[in-house]
Amino acid sequence: MRYKNPHYQRVRGSSTMLVSCGHCRNNIVLYQKVGKGALLRMYVERIVKGSVDLSQKPGLLICPHCKEQLAMRVTLRRKNKEAYIVKRGALHSRFL
Ligand SMILES: [Zn+2]
Repeated sequence: MRYKNPHYQRVRGSSTMLVSCGHCRNNIVLYQKVGKGALLRMYVERIVKGSVDLSQKPGLLICPHCKEQLAMRVTLRRKNKEAYIVKRGALHSRFL
């Protein structure tokens, strides 16, 4: 994962999660997960680094290895935050 996320902010009380492609298991991002629930969305500012260049504001998160679409970027208006909505079953995640 060679791209640092320029929007990254440290989140207290979060756990580090390794998120990989559900199709080919290529590592996608290192994420600060809050809570133990399933990974349904990923806030952009909680992504530590990735194999995708997030400074380019990609609207779709695409696996650089197998080219599958993994997630779609949205702005959550109520919170005024950018997030990726995870496509169902497209990502594999585990706590480090
Ligand atoms: Zn893949």
